[in-house]
Amino acid sequence: LRPAIIAGNWKMNKLSMDTMSFFYDLKPLIKEAKCDVVVCVPFTDIATAAVASKGAKCKLGAQNCHFEPKGAFTGEVSVDMLRDAQVEYVIIGHSERRQYFAETDETVNKKLKAALAGGLIPILCVGESLEQRENGETLALLESQIKKAYEGIDAKDAKKIVVAYEPIWAIGTGKTATADEAEEAIAHIRGVLASLYGDTAQNISILYGGSMNAKNAAELVAKPNIDGGLIGGASLVVDDFVTIINAAS
Ligand code: 13P
Repeated sequence: LRPAIIAGNWKMNKLSMDTMSFFYDLKPLIKEAKCDVVVCVPFTDIATAAVASKGAKCKLGAQNCHFEPKGAFTGEVSVDMLRDAQVEYVIIGHSERRQYFAETDETVNKKLKAALAGGLIPILCVGESLEQRENGETLALLESQIKKAYEGIDAKDAKKIVVAYEPIWAIGTGKTATADEAEEAIAHIRGVLASLYGDTAQNISILYGGSMNAKNAAELVAKPNIDGGLIGGASLVVDDFVTIINAAS
């Protein structure tokens, strides 16, 4: 029905030498992987990763893009540039970008449209802060983030988007949402998508992210609505990443 996806998000980590050895080690270990594997590397590692991952059962992703096709936007990278560099996926609206780089639901929506128009598969991140969870605002916040992100996007494009539910309080904290908490939030996201797109929601892959690791991955991906993971810290280490991939295969 929906492909399982394990995506790594390296964030601002690894130089080109580490990138080379990572893919060299990863390649033979994922030959039998039954899930889709994506590695989202820093811009400066893309060229190295494209060479080093040749023939490997994984795809390359970036961690951000700009919504304009080209022009005077110093420091930004366009969808076409990423495609040109052999990137197939792009993370959009990660909470760190919303928090530190002033991304809003509106820019997230524009970036989604640009990525889709340019042929990249977006990985759209949504998720609540600890304060929002404690105030009982989680489900309403997720509904609002999803509705604003998908504004003006039709069902044909909507099903190309991969969603990642990443509770901010679980990112990099070692504090994972329990499998039940993650399942509840992700089922809710699927419900919101069903209200927008009907049965198409059943074809949209929704991942969990936030301190997912080699130990807790199997329990998370066993839940009916959790279609894989977006992995930060544990995606930097080949053995941990492969254990997670195997748990989802
Ligand atoms: P960690 O797995 O390091 O908690 O990061 C999750 C994340 O933000 C992935 O995008």
